[in-house]
Amino acid sequence: MVRSRDGVYVWVTWLAKLMAGEFTCQWSAWFRSHYTGYTRAPSDFQLAAWTAEHAQLLDELVRERAGVGEAVYREDQNRFRVRRSSGLRLAGKPDLIAIDRSGRVTVYDAKTGRPKHSDLIQIMLYMMCLPHASPLYKGKALHGCAIYANGQRSDIPPAGIDDAFRRTATYFLDLLDASSPPRRTPTVWDCRFCDITVADCEDRLEAEATADALDDGAEIPL
Ligand code: SF4
Repeated sequence: MVRSRDGVYVWVTWLAKLMAGEFTCQWSAWFRSHYTGYTRAPSDFQLAAWTAEHAQLLDELVRERAGVGEAVYREDQNRFRVRRSSGLRLAGKPDLIAIDRSGRVTVYDAKTGRPKHSDLIQIMLYMMCLPHASPLYKGKALHGCAIYANGQRSDIPPAGIDDAFRRTATYFLDLLDASSPPRRTPTVWDCRFCDITVADCEDRLEAEATADALDDGAEIPL
């Protein structure tokens, strides 16, 4: 049963995709931030395959960092929540945080798909929030790293969390914090990866209905 949340709640991955412009329907993230208990579209076998691949990639990374003597904290050990003065809560769960013998902290996220801007923004949001979320990271300049199944690694220096990044994060948090929703902008691509059903979004485009037109192109009378 869909119901209003007890205060606005934002998951870091929703914010990262908005900031990267990879998910254009802002209403989707706004709705999730303000409501809970809604009926979710079923996930498919591709998600199950992704989950298994991600677990392996992360496990290999954990072994690698522990193998060089670093302290490693994995997934649920890294859950955090920070709060704006408005009451909005921003929460996340970094895949892995590793601390080397010199005290250097690196936030890792394992990615099985092709590299996307949102991968890096997601890690940068973790780097921005964690010093406020846990005494373990308070006052520290955190490093970041996205690792991919193809072996690629993208490092993020602490300087990446600058005023411009904080301003952009603030802009999109303001959007999600607003009491009035942004417009829905349904596209077959966004709706395909959106878990909100027609029960709550009558504008949802079903992939089956549009796949033929996208595959073959619509006829033009020329
Ligand atoms: S189903 Fe489509 S239009 Fe509706 S919220 Fe999701 S992305 Fe937006």
